Amino acid sequence: MASLDRTARAFLLTELVTGFMLTLKYMFKPKVTVNYPHEKGPLSPRFRGEHALRRYPNGEERCIACKLCEAICPAQAITIEAEPRDDGSRRTTRYDIDMTKCIYCGFCQEACPVDAIVEGPNFEFTTETREELMYDKQKLLANGDQWESLIAANLQRDAAYR
Ligand code: SF4
Ligand code: SF4
Repeated sequence: MASLDRTARAFLLTELVTGFMLTLKYMFKPKVTVNYPHEKGPLSPRFRGEHALRRYPNGEERCIACKLCEAICPAQAITIEAEPRDDGSRRTTRYDIDMTKCIYCGFCQEACPVDAIVEGPNFEFTTETREELMYDKQKLLANGDQWESLIAANLQRDAAYR
């Protein structure tokens, strides 16, 4: 009986017709895929992407070289050196992140008392060499300058939950 049923279905092309019907059904439904990289999906304000060092609106670096981020980093990816400035304030002279070690846990951002180091919304930072993933302070500050408006907006959106 089962073999008869199989033969009848083969002759009547029921699988083929069912497949075409399914295709027709989805042809007129809204698309669930996006045409990346021309289109991008929504990102959570908590998205943990490429790191950035932020500045205050007057251009001064936020980082006060407390080294909490360096201490908490489970991957030991952050290296900081610091010296007091002439005005007595303490600032970093070196702030490196080895992005090949980073596991994007977000602990550095959580530990920072002044919202200086953050993981921004950028996820498109692939490189061709490992060396390009050794970020220094200039690179991190440049990231902060480039993404500041989005980073600030995301921090604002998430402020009630922090
Ligand atoms: S995200 Fe985590 S692993 Fe990466 S630098 Fe920050 S603390 Fe370290
Ligand atoms: S980025 Fe934040 S936690 Fe890290 S040294 Fe600077 S102020 Fe401290």
